[in-house]
Amino acid sequence: MDLGISGKRALVCASSKGLGRGCAEALAAEGVNLVMNARGADALESAAAAIRAAHGVDVVTVAADITTEDGRAKVLAAAGDVDILVNNAGGPPPGMWTDWNRDDFIAALDANMLTPIALIKALVPGMMERGWGRVVNITSQSVKSPIPVLGLSNSARAGLTGYVAGTSRQVAGKGVVINNLLPGIHDTDRATSLDGGVAKAEGISMEDARKKRHATIPAGRYGTAQEFGAACAFLCSQHAGFIVGQNLLLDGGAVNTTL
Ligand code: NAP
Repeated sequence: MDLGISGKRALVCASSKGLGRGCAEALAAEGVNLVMNARGADALESAAAAIRAAHGVDVVTVAADITTEDGRAKVLAAAGDVDILVNNAGGPPPGMWTDWNRDDFIAALDANMLTPIALIKALVPGMMERGWGRVVNITSQSVKSPIPVLGLSNSARAGLTGYVAGTSRQVAGKGVVINNLLPGIHDTDRATSLDGGVAKAEGISMEDARKKRHATIPAGRYGTAQEFGAACAFLCSQHAGFIVGQNLLLDGGAVNTTL
């Protein structure tokens, strides 16, 4: 299927590795020129070089922390007008509900709620003026089914989801669609770090921690960044113009709900 977005320009935040990288790769494979971001310059440059070589698209890189005002200013200055925005950043650390204080919540809200909102506010008005735009926010399955040790993530991502539900309906009439992608467990560094935490807490091997988690997923495996990226590219495509304010769960069936 031709997604009809060749020649468009996308900002993909937090994209040197993992799910963000999967989205960048899938968009590049459709001929989309990219602005890629991450904090670490080395991994970012090597991801950008690999994407340029594989897909022949233009890739601008900005090494910056997207969760800071200064970082966002640098990214936005380099990005200019974009047609597609993929919001992503690292997730908050796990812990117990008794662990978190006000500063921890502010940091989580800054990273996983207020940063995507700031980027939407900066870039969507231009998309509306030009009459076309796509925004995909990478959130989490924890929006539909809370993960108790990720209380900071549950809270911040629920806040973003509420904002998107209303805002997406205010901008859809100008050709801009905003949707959320909700990853379940995918095989990335984030999953390795969460599995490491479980292995340590339960005194089991990393392999056993993974096996335990596979058993909770009807698909019997973790998702891949490639399949996540393909779903993202579809939501950024010409075919997704009537999909407004939705929350698409990519979790191998792990969240046991009818709707
Ligand atoms: P990952 O493999 O750890 O990759 C994170 C990427 O984001 C890296 O490129 C990292 O590069 C960049 N990054 C992190 N913090 C950043 C920041 N402040 N500014 C700019 N770039 C930043 O993580 P992932 O698994 O792809 O997860 C992506 C998001 O999905 C996270 O919010 C995570 O919580 C959520 N999620 C993941 C899963 C899963 O199973 N993987 C499940 C549910 C939700 P630098 O470190 O160099 O900045």
